[in-house]
Amino acid sequence: MQLWCTEKQTESLGLTARVKETLFTGTSEFQDVAIVDSFQFGRMLVLDGVFQTSIFDEFVYHEMIAHIPLYIHPNPKHVLVIGGGDGGTIREVVKHDSVEIAEMVEIDGMVVDACKKYLPEISAALNDNNPKVHLKIGDGIQHMKDAENKYDVIIVDCSDPIGPGEGLFTHDFYKDVFKALKSDGLFVQQTESPYYHQELIKRLHKDIQSLFPITNMYLANIPLYPGGLHCFTIGSKKHDPAAVDMSNRQKLVTRYHNAELQKSCFVLPNFVQELIK
Ligand code: SAM
Repeated sequence: MQLWCTEKQTESLGLTARVKETLFTGTSEFQDVAIVDSFQFGRMLVLDGVFQTSIFDEFVYHEMIAHIPLYIHPNPKHVLVIGGGDGGTIREVVKHDSVEIAEMVEIDGMVVDACKKYLPEISAALNDNNPKVHLKIGDGIQHMKDAENKYDVIIVDCSDPIGPGEGLFTHDFYKDVFKALKSDGLFVQQTESPYYHQELIKRLHKDIQSLFPITNMYLANIPLYPGGLHCFTIGSKKHDPAAVDMSNRQKLVTRYHNAELQKSCFVLPNFVQELIK
């Protein structure tokens, strides 16, 4: 028998993968959690039926959400990841020698436990007792309310704006993020597809722009995600993505990110520029 798994990406479109094996299913307080092994993407984390990450292309998302902001900041020491339960983003964050503390606040312990067991390549930094990594199971929205002038870089590695992730796409949340950052801090958030989530992108860009002196968007090609092209939005208090000097920075072994891409990913097609005008 052939098994297929479909993510309903819009009201009228789905992405379907042929499944080799279902490795884990569970229902947490927050969502349905599944790990399936697929022919095309390898093992994948699926939350509430939405594909979150896959062995095949996870490097793109995790390198781009971590290294772009960490190179924009000249000396990131204290970094926070909100969400990111699979561990891929924190794995990239701890590669930076400047980072002394890498905190992660993920709401769902079941996601972390399942990824530690079934996606060890992605969750490695959560498994190996890395002294830089501080994991807290809790709500990132509340964590931001309680923090002030604390972080150099905040990375919002969230799921879609439904369920527990909904409040991570609001003006109130961005106000708390601003407060939680140091005076030269910056944050990045995954902000969905420029093809299928245009109203969301317009709204949140305006919200972030109303708070941060520098607001910018960059793109990466991610086959697993709707439309294949994915947006990331940056709000920065001081450091400008266009002013990054990579010549004296630590060189990392990466599969997607490189010094040229650090700048070129901010070059946006006209229809995306229109969204954030
Ligand atoms: N790369 C993924 C994507 O864009 O599809 C996101 C991956 S990561 C698995 C997203 C995580 O955010 C999930 O594990 C989810 O439990 C977590 N999350 C959602 N809402 C949250 C909140 N309010 N606080 C902390 N973590 C949250």
